Amino acid sequence: MGECDTITALAGGVGAAKLIDGLSSVVPAEKLTVIVNTGDDCEFHGLRVSPDLDIVTYTLAGLVDEEKGWGIKNDTFNCLQMLEVYGHETWFKLGDRDLATHIHRTMMLRSGYKLSEVTRDICARLGVRQRIIPMTDEYFATKIRTDKGTMHFQEYLVKRGSLDVVREIVYEGAESAKPAPGVIESIMDAETVILCPSNPLVSIGTILAIRGVREALRESNAVKVAVSPIVGGAAVKGPADKMMSQLGIEPSALSVAKLYSDFLDAFVMDEVDAPLVQEVKGLGIRVAVTNTLMRTREDRIRLAKFVLEVASKCK
Ligand code: GDP
Repeated sequence: MGECDTITALAGGVGAAKLIDGLSSVVPAEKLTVIVNTGDDCEFHGLRVSPDLDIVTYTLAGLVDEEKGWGIKNDTFNCLQMLEVYGHETWFKLGDRDLATHIHRTMMLRSGYKLSEVTRDICARLGVRQRIIPMTDEYFATKIRTDKGTMHFQEYLVKRGSLDVVREIVYEGAESAKPAPGVIESIMDAETVILCPSNPLVSIGTILAIRGVREALRESNAVKVAVSPIVGGAAVKGPADKMMSQLGIEPSALSVAKLYSDFLDAFVMDEVDAPLVQEVKGLGIRVAVTNTLMRTREDRIRLAKFVLEVASKCK
């Protein structure tokens, strides 16, 4: 792997995990820090579930269900079936082995450990050597105000299938939640900061809503590169495009670049979006175009190398 910059990546769930998987094969583990969204965290059956942290951790541990992009491969759902017998809501799919993670996390949190400490413990036990940090140790909940009322992001996304019209995204706790230890430092100390292809509003937007994070990105001498999660005007997966248009933001790679334009040095977008290059450049951001769809492991590694090359050209 040779000489390599210290990298800090900002991440949501599945889209981010794919790029981080690619990065993990070209960046030594001790040089890679991942700051993960916790706005989607929720309590189910009395347990603290941190979906994005788990997706990133399971991916780096080689445990993830590759087909779904979340959960543990070959997991069973016996516990959930029994919970259903007892009349509990089971729309959020939690496998048996996955539940062990949530039980372990909840037990540690109840005995006074911080989420960042629990995350470090889980990583160590699963053999993940990269540093994974939750964006905050404190309460933060992404709530969606829709035409059918205000609900937690998971209820909007998973229970109701993102069918309601989004009027506003509420970052509950953003005023008070402090960044977890290491969040600001890893942005300030990194040579390269990568914004993964994640939902810009509810995955990256939440991290940016944490006090001091946006300022750190503006002040850090790191090269800051983002990969667009919007390809040809649509999300590869999930409701990012729909949410953007319902909030009056045109769903395009250009709009994503605009959301990050106050600190971004370079923007990687898909070749189908090549016609937008001049407009993105007009924001004062370098642009690089490539195939950004990560269908295979080779795609992930190729995109990771491409992003690092783009970053090195910004120095
Ligand atoms: P998730 O819904 O929890 O996976 O949340 P994320 O915010 O991490 O990911 C969702 C975003 O990632 C969506 O906007 C997708 O369009 C984007 N995404 C997923 N896979 C890919 C990919 O292979 N390439 C690119 N460019 N974007 C992707």
